[in-house]
Amino acid sequence: MNNDQIKSVSSHVLPPLPYADNALSPVISANTIGFHYGKHHKGYVDNLNKWVAGTEFADLPLEKIITKTAGKADKAPIFNNAAQTWNHTFYWRSLKPKGGGELPAALKLKITASFGSVDACRKELSTAAIAQFGSGWVWLVQDGDKLKVVKTANADLPLTTGMKPLLTIDVWEHAYYLDYQNPRADYVNAVLDKLINWDFAAENLV
Ligand code: MN
Repeated sequence: MNNDQIKSVSSHVLPPLPYADNALSPVISANTIGFHYGKHHKGYVDNLNKWVAGTEFADLPLEKIITKTAGKADKAPIFNNAAQTWNHTFYWRSLKPKGGGELPAALKLKITASFGSVDACRKELSTAAIAQFGSGWVWLVQDGDKLKVVKTANADLPLTTGMKPLLTIDVWEHAYYLDYQNPRADYVNAVLDKLINWDFAAENLV
């Protein structure tokens, strides 16, 4: 295999959305998805491929690129685009049409053990998402035996601190501004009530 073939094999691709672009409407419109998935997410993937081309990161899997560039100022463009590629793929899978509702038993048990109740966990996710100053993400994570809610700024993600992400909500303005304008709380609460994919979170438990 020559170098060109290796590059084309290992270049990062935008994964397909797990549902139609209008499937999350009216909580998240097809218009928002069009920009968020079609422009922002695609942009991170395209930029990642440009930044890693010809570097020591060119042939590494996405998670390796993220952990190897985290916290290194001179690698920030690679980290940011790699992490945002990962975060968005994880975000789309954290949502589903007709989400919210009842939790799988194993997840409910873990959440109750860590937060006291599902409601308390939901409230902590919502509070953290609203409190995140500026762009970022809110996450339900598994940290050892315990489940926690954490928020991260910009492209940062729990992978770099050894915690296992279970689900995420994107709180960058591009995630909600077309549909909700400034009230981030309305977006976050609608996502938690109507779209959040508890089955996906349960699948991620270790
Ligand atoms: Mn986003």
